[in-house]
Parts: sequence; structure tokens; C-alpha cells
Amino acid sequence: MKAAVYHCPEKVRLEEVSLPRIKEGEVLVRVKTALTCGTDRKLYLRGHPLFPPPFILGHEFAGDIVKVGKKVKKFKKGMRVVAANSAPCHHCFYCKLGKEELCENFFIRLSGAFAEYIAIPEPIVKDNLFEIPKSVSYQEAAFLEPLACVVHGIEESQIKLGDTVVINGAGPIGLLFLQLAKLQGARVIITDLSKERLSLANKLGADKTISVARVKDEVKTIRELTEGRGAAIAIEAVGSPEVWERTIAMARKGGKAILFGGCPSRTSIKIDTELFHYGELTIKGVFHHTPDYVKKAFGLICHKSTNTDSLVTERYPLSKINKVLEKIVGHQGLKFAIIP
Ligand SMILES: [Zn+2]
Ligand SMILES: [Zn+2]
Repeated sequence: MKAAVYHCPEKVRLEEVSLPRIKEGEVLVRVKTALTCGTDRKLYLRGHPLFPPPFILGHEFAGDIVKVGKKVKKFKKGMRVVAANSAPCHHCFYCKLGKEELCENFFIRLSGAFAEYIAIPEPIVKDNLFEIPKSVSYQEAAFLEPLACVVHGIEESQIKLGDTVVINGAGPIGLLFLQLAKLQGARVIITDLSKERLSLANKLGADKTISVARVKDEVKTIRELTEGRGAAIAIEAVGSPEVWERTIAMARKGGKAILFGGCPSRTSIKIDTELFHYGELTIKGVFHHTPDYVKKAFGLICHKSTNTDSLVTERYPLSKINKVLEKIVGHQGLKFAIIP
């Protein structure tokens, strides 16, 4: 089969590789649509300690089952399916605590969707594989993993009706946060550098968009828009220490900062102790998803509660993978759909 194989930073080749062999509890899926994501950009530029090269890129996908292992009962050949990229072990310290996203034996973060076929490991088949209803396209279904992460962020934020929520970053993640925050009944202000992204945020229901390029002091701007107090919830969806600091400063007294975007390793931030203590701020890091969040995200996809089509900039065949990688490195567009 054809696959986009990562060899070293900035070197991905479209190659002929052997078809994945499945074990008894596994399922083989023919990929119909895969999506690019911020993680692919990071992987492409720096590699990853969890994935020794060569490996196949891509972890957001949907497709058709072409083969099932002997032990698999729930799924059959021909089913249209979508899978999340990991599954927890259910028996480690953190899983027992109910914090499955911190699982100590996290089952492989699945990679390999930028290929014609992908094997779904048994723990994922058991926990995080779903049959897609007819009314849902492969592309819509492929949003399962990022949406599950955002559902996690939204649940942690505990938005109440009428709360003002600030989202810093109008990339695919920020725009999913926007849509779910609106579903929760929030007034949403969203900030970004890009005019195109902000105009899309407008279409997707943002109450106010702020171009970071145009304002001198974003924190002050947010305070002006919130009777001088700041937002009930401030969400960081960029992954930059500077924006983390700014996000915390945008939360009102008793408010919450949700730090979602992963920053480069070995970076740190400064927090105003006075603001933190006397303002009774809650600062919450949010990472990854759990089977419960994945299930909730799948429900949202099935009920078409979010508009994900507008987050896909262009569709390309797998043969154009290097062109797509160039685009995501250059921060062009939002997400790209790869059709093997
Ligand atoms: Zn992703
Ligand atoms: Zn575990």
C-alpha cells in the first residue's frame, strides 16, 4: 500500500509499504479521509520520542473496515468507522482515579492514517472505535479526536449560561471551542492574528472577534469588554507561553483559565501572585481525552452539533502529502483532508 513515511525532521516520503497485518483483536481499515492537525506539524518538524522513525504520519481518520480479527465481535467487514488515536489501560493508578487521560500505560497514540490502510489496535477497538451513521461523512467523522479533546476542555471549564468566554486562538481547536462554548450558552470573544480565521469565527457564531495585530493590549481590551472585570473563562488554544500568561490575565476574579495549547518543551510562564491569590483564580491544564469524552464527541458529530466542514481548507490526494505538509508548516489554512 502507499503511505506517507516520516524518516527524520522535514523528511516525509510517499512509499510503497507492506499492508499492516492484524492480530485477533484488531481491525484493518481502508482510510477514506484523514485530516492534518497541529500535532502532525510538530511531528514533521521535530519527530517524537514515542514514535521512533520510520513511522507513518496521521492520526485523525475515518474509513471502511476491510478485515476483522477472529476475536472481534462488534465490528464487521464493510462497516464505515472512525477511531480515536489512543485508549487507556483501565487499571493503572490514574485510570483508577478516573483520570484516564493521564494513564500510565496509554495505549500507543495511534499513528499511520496518511496511508491507504491502517490497523486498529485491540485496546482502541474495544474502547474508541465507532460505526459511523449513514448521515455522517467520513470527513465529519474524522474530527472525533480533536473534538474529544475540546469536549474535555469544555467540561473542565464548567461554563454557565451567559458567561463571557474568551478564546485565544482561532485555529481549528479554537473554532471548535467557540462552537461548543456557544452550545453551552456563553458569550464568546475570540482573538487571533489572522483576518480569515476571525471572519470564519464570526460566521461560526463568535459574539466579538479581536485581531491581535490591531490592539495594543489584549488584556485591557478584554477588560473593557467585560465591565472592567475580565472573562469568566479564558481559554488558551495556541500553545505559546506568552499567550498562556495573557490568557490567565484575562480571567476575572473567581474565573478560570483553561490552558489547552501544548507549549514547546522546557518553557515556563510567570503568574501574578496577587491576581492569582486575591482573585481566587483557577488555572487548569487540559490534555488529551478519555473514552467518555470520545463518546460525547461522537454523539456531537452524529447529531451534527458542530460545523466542521468549514474547518477543512482543502482536500488533497495522498500523493500530494508533501505539498500539504509545506502548507501546514507555513500556517496556511486550517485543516487539510487527505484522501488516500
Ligand atoms: Zn489531532
Ligand atoms: Zn491506565
